[in-house]
Amino acid sequence: MGEVAVQQLQGQVRGDLVVPGDARFDEARKVYNGMIDRRPAAIVRCTGVTDVIAAVKAARASGLPVSVRGGGHSVPGFGTADGAMVVDLGRMKGIRVDPTTKTVRAEGGCTWGDFNHATHAFGLATTGGVVSTTGIAGLTLGGGIGYLTRSAGLALDNLVSADVVLADGSFVTANKDVNRDLFWALRGGGGNFGVVTNFEFGLHGVKDIVAGPMFFEVEDAPKVMHAFDRYITDAPRQLYVVFAWQIAPPLPFIPEDRHGDTFGALIVCWTGNPEQADKVLAPLRSAAPVVAESIGRMPYPAINSAFDALYPSGLQHYWKAAFGGGLTDELVEAHMAHGPKIPVVQSTMHIYPINGAVHDVAPDATAFGHRDAKYATVIAGMWPDPTQNDANIRWVRDYYKAIAPHSEEGGYINFLAGDDMDRVRANYGRTYDRLVEVKTKYDPENVFRFNQNIALGR
Ligand SMILES: Cc1cc2nc3c(=O)[nH]c(=O)nc-3n(C[C@H](O)[C@H](O)[C@H](O)COP(=O)(O)OP(=O)(O)OC[C@H]3O[C@@H](n4cnc5c(N)ncnc54)[C@H](O)[C@@H]3O)c2cc1C
Repeated sequence: MGEVAVQQLQGQVRGDLVVPGDARFDEARKVYNGMIDRRPAAIVRCTGVTDVIAAVKAARASGLPVSVRGGGHSVPGFGTADGAMVVDLGRMKGIRVDPTTKTVRAEGGCTWGDFNHATHAFGLATTGGVVSTTGIAGLTLGGGIGYLTRSAGLALDNLVSADVVLADGSFVTANKDVNRDLFWALRGGGGNFGVVTNFEFGLHGVKDIVAGPMFFEVEDAPKVMHAFDRYITDAPRQLYVVFAWQIAPPLPFIPEDRHGDTFGALIVCWTGNPEQADKVLAPLRSAAPVVAESIGRMPYPAINSAFDALYPSGLQHYWKAAFGGGLTDELVEAHMAHGPKIPVVQSTMHIYPINGAVHDVAPDATAFGHRDAKYATVIAGMWPDPTQNDANIRWVRDYYKAIAPHSEEGGYINFLAGDDMDRVRANYGRTYDRLVEVKTKYDPENVFRFNQNIALGR
């Protein structure tokens, strides 16, 4: 940006404008994935809608593309870009819960930790992510899978209304009554359409829950996966279960001589009557001998932050993702060939059910194009040491190659790496053509391009 443009923008915003040369620049350009090292033209740390409008207009006037940052968790680092105007919403954390209507309005910079903290005080919650530091914005716009998914649907199924700053700097609201095409596209189309400054969600009565992990021997994992697959098909919807591979961290509930060993794990969350938890979990506990478990009653936000310590900001990230139906013998064999080889304690593979309430919504009702799948699977490579990048990336790629023939084409846009953009049509799935139409209407010049970019397949 030219000096004059910088000065003008500085005068228009209440937040910080950080440009190269500023002592704050290196900190401000960082995102969660430590592998990402990009140099934007300018970063606006917005304090409100006015700042967002000013930043988008200034970007357009200077011919800069816009990179939008909510929680900054995107694995491909879409929240920062070389030569772009970064619109950082990280300081926009206003939240207002309305317990009467069971709704909440939350600004675009909230994380799920901020969100759950506010709604839990009222005994309310909605589907969010399993790590509290993830942003509500990117997670919701791409889908939103979490512990309430089987009972309450995806995060985006709970979205009631959104305030959006469009590519020309104009401000609109999108919901079931106004700008309906935009509202449809926002629910699954990612950050392609504008900057969402405020989200309104519907909430559900959720307070204390029964949750935690149980660990099984690797050789029992096929039995456990099949038992999980059978049970989760029709299990009560208040039950959520994730199958995962996990190297045992040094935690007190795991026998000391097993720290560092690899296990097949089930992470469970039961939001029904706590007295019924043991009965509901029995088919999982009897799948194979449980080596260690730490399942108990806790406030709902506690399970959503249980993994936080394992995943601090700054780790290296490389992920791949797939959608799929049931866990066939061939698929389980592919998991067994690669899962037990997880290289480091932070890396994992998670199989997330997306059945139950997700399947109640018509396949084309929102832009989320893979509703017919039973599972969203992610192979999440996360490791601290950049000198280990090659080995860790190889593990993710080899694992994905093995499960791909037994999976649907395309993966959940929020779980993909940047090198998955060549299959953007498959990643969005059945709604892609309509997404292109809405993108053409609202962002014809592709100002919002740092995302799983719809314009790429146009
Ligand atoms: C540790 C970890 C745990 C995760 N757990 C889950 C999980 O449990 N469930 C799940 O579904 N996903 C999960 N994810 C994936 C997560 O949904 C995506 O990384 C998501 O993009 C994060 O959103 P963000 O706002 O933090 O990211 P950002 O990097 O800020 O943004 C991601 C994308 O969304 C766009 N965007 C962000 N804010 C806005 C906005 N206000 N308006 C318009 N566009 C915007 C950005 O431009 C970018 O394209 C996890 C990711 C990580 C790293």
